[in-house]
Amino acid sequence: MNGSTRLPAGNWPTLLPGWVWLCGAGPGDPGLLTLHAYSGLQQADTVVHDALVEPAILEWAPQARHVYAGKRGGKPSPKQRDITLLLIELARSGNRVLRLKGGDPFVFGRGGEEAQTLISNGIPVRIIPGISAGIGGLAYAGIPVTHRDVNQSVTFVTGHDQTGKTPSSLDWQAIANGSEVIVIYMGMLHARRICNALLDAGRPYDEPCAVVTSATTSRQMVLETALGVMADDIESSEISPPAILCVGRNVLMRQVLDWQGMLSGTPPRNLDPLDQTRSPEAS
Ligand code: SAH
Repeated sequence: MNGSTRLPAGNWPTLLPGWVWLCGAGPGDPGLLTLHAYSGLQQADTVVHDALVEPAILEWAPQARHVYAGKRGGKPSPKQRDITLLLIELARSGNRVLRLKGGDPFVFGRGGEEAQTLISNGIPVRIIPGISAGIGGLAYAGIPVTHRDVNQSVTFVTGHDQTGKTPSSLDWQAIANGSEVIVIYMGMLHARRICNALLDAGRPYDEPCAVVTSATTSRQMVLETALGVMADDIESSEISPPAILCVGRNVLMRQVLDWQGMLSGTPPRNLDPLDQTRSPEAS
């Protein structure tokens, strides 16, 4: 896209002075932005963005001041309270504020807290959802988050608890029993503990898993592995966060659905990957 790109005809809402649009930027690929997000980028005076927002997306707001309010695990980052206070201050001084967060603002993004504080302080907000990494990122890896032959439910989990340090407060037994597919955000740091917890809870050692890093960007990497060896495979690979971990037989579908591999000339490995693993009773 270039600067001359226009929104399709329609009744697009106006980002008014004093307002904050709390907006998802999607997992990375700028093309996964919503039209409302794009419209907000074009109208904003100030864009307050986090670390996971791709720089190319910010180029769609050349008129705006760009304020980085990144929060990345393990690195010094502005406190959530400071970010919210900044948003309030910007809105009160008459800015049209676009608060841009990676993925969807309401999925492990603390968007609910930000919006709550803004509204409590009398700041009008609009919420613009985005494509979450745990869905769109897997799709770019050729992994459907639900697949009829595999799962009727999916569990989204954060690998960090409220302290941001350990996954120990989660009930891994319940998570392991809860659904056939488990999608873990922020799971790299504690991957070994998470895998062990799921194995202890009875998930099979050879259960298919994938780790998708920097999903939907040009840096995307996909590690296909199994639950019992995932932590070792992560350690011996060169992959680094941000990453989505996916545990479940839906990962096998990548053998036929790796559409990005196909774009670069790699043919599908197996046109019917689930058939091989289906037990005779289930067929
Ligand atoms: N609100 C975001 C999630 C924020 S939490 C969303 O809906 O996607 C941050 C975590 O999201 C990262 O640690 C990682 O687990 C995941 N994540 C975000 N963008 C990602 C990407 N492009 N590739 C892989 N994981 C990503």
